Amino acid sequence: MSTTTFSLEFKSETFKGKVNFPTGVFIDGQFSAGAEGTTIDVINPSTGKVITSVAEGTAKDVDRAVKAAKRAFTESWGLKVPGSQRGQLLNKLADLFERHSDELAALEALDNGKTFNWAKAADVAMSIGVLRYYAGWADKIHGQTIETHEDKLAYTRHEPFGVVGQIIPWNFPLMMMAWKLGPALATGNAIVLKPSEFTPLSALRVCSLINEAGFPPGVVNVIIGYGHTAGQAIAEHLGIDKVAFTGSTLVGRKIMEAAAKSNLKNVTLELGGKSPNIIFNDADLDLAVNWSLHGIFWNHGQCCCAGSRIFVQSGIYDKFLERFTAKSKALKLGDPFAGDSYQGPQVSKIQFDRIMDFINSGKEQGATVHLGGEQHGTEGYWIQPTIFTNTKPDMRIVQEEIFGPVGVVIKFEDQEDVLRQANDTLYGLAAAVFTTDITRGIQFAHSLQAGTAWINCANSLHPNVPFGGYKQSGVGRELGEYALNNYTNVKAVHINLGQHI
Ligand code: NAD
Repeated sequence: MSTTTFSLEFKSETFKGKVNFPTGVFIDGQFSAGAEGTTIDVINPSTGKVITSVAEGTAKDVDRAVKAAKRAFTESWGLKVPGSQRGQLLNKLADLFERHSDELAALEALDNGKTFNWAKAADVAMSIGVLRYYAGWADKIHGQTIETHEDKLAYTRHEPFGVVGQIIPWNFPLMMMAWKLGPALATGNAIVLKPSEFTPLSALRVCSLINEAGFPPGVVNVIIGYGHTAGQAIAEHLGIDKVAFTGSTLVGRKIMEAAAKSNLKNVTLELGGKSPNIIFNDADLDLAVNWSLHGIFWNHGQCCCAGSRIFVQSGIYDKFLERFTAKSKALKLGDPFAGDSYQGPQVSKIQFDRIMDFINSGKEQGATVHLGGEQHGTEGYWIQPTIFTNTKPDMRIVQEEIFGPVGVVIKFEDQEDVLRQANDTLYGLAAAVFTTDITRGIQFAHSLQAGTAWINCANSLHPNVPFGGYKQSGVGRELGEYALNNYTNVKAVHINLGQHI
């Protein structure tokens, strides 16, 4: 039974059309009210006003979802369904994403504040790519046969865990969902997924698409709820065999603790970052400026791999800063549904306040505000693209993840010095280096302590290529073939071919 229907007629420049779909806690293929009967207000970050309310799921709903997932896994999924069929279902889901791409992009723009055009070109397109990529893997999950020098045959099977919990953030609501669903479903797991309480709309729309694609009920269950209740319940649940989390390092630690204290469930974590972006004197200046801009300001700086520390060698520092500043100034802030907007509002009041607090700390600690540093407009949660210079290594804006449109530009002299500074962080998600000396580029890529190293580009991801963190940026890898390991257990089978004990 559906508790509520979300219904809205969009009349914007980029999208016109009626969007209509059921909402609620989604368990066993059905929407219902949460066990406590409470709701969560969904806020439009462009205005600060309530868009709608959706059913809040709590620990009791998580428990019901785990039971539904377990039953589905045992009776109609997991090892019961051949990989080729799982692949077909994932491809059908990708087709539905494609058919509804405008609608999904509009929900992202409305709920998260990212621009419609970027949501369609990046978030929706990447989500489709990821689903198709893992659809292709679904019938190619296999182990090894292993030589033992005994009269035995030994081989391995890569089996699904069973019920997996997945907890995702608000910065790429649809895309993070696709990153989680793709490999988990390709490998035959059943899912209890919790989107961020700040951005539930696209995930709720996808629930109906999951039914329409033909996944057996209970294979995917979606609970919109708060982290400390529904999220914590997933991390602690004894019926969940694996939890995959994307979010802050702080909460990642709590997930690991809860997993350790409950049933030692397998854990993968995609966490925060403070990625260095290093530009050498010999770099192609325009290329470096354009990618640095994309690296820090795309998605309003709300990227875990944002290039938030921009190190520029002294020989081109002034020229770089001049062009980078001019281009940053020209970025168009405005209505996410306007065709020419580059940057919309930050996702929530909480994030807005956090970012402004970081900006104020930079000012108070003596850094120079080279550009921006203030709220943009008076309504909603827009922040001006902000550049700090004259920073010191121990300032908060240099050390901590801001997760907003705020970058620091730091002058460096030589290679050893910049390598030391770049690696002087507790994070290790990504790093970029700009140089026309490919040998130096490769040597640097190998020396940087990061799970992704870009040479002459930044903030670039692809479904086929793994992504994840060194140090406190995470455990495990998403995307690519590597992500399949997150969702399979290895079973070794020994067969005695001889007559003797
Ligand atoms: P967050 O950690 O506050 O929340 C992430 C999710 O965890 C949400 O669904 C939230 O409800 C849930 N949660 C909160 N407390 C919980 C608890 N105690 N137990 C279980 N679940 C809980 O992060 P956020 O503010 O939503 O997202 C921003 C952070 O995510 C940034 O630090 C960013 O770097 C990181 N991030 C990382 C990646 C990556 O791939 N490495 C991708 C996107 C975002």
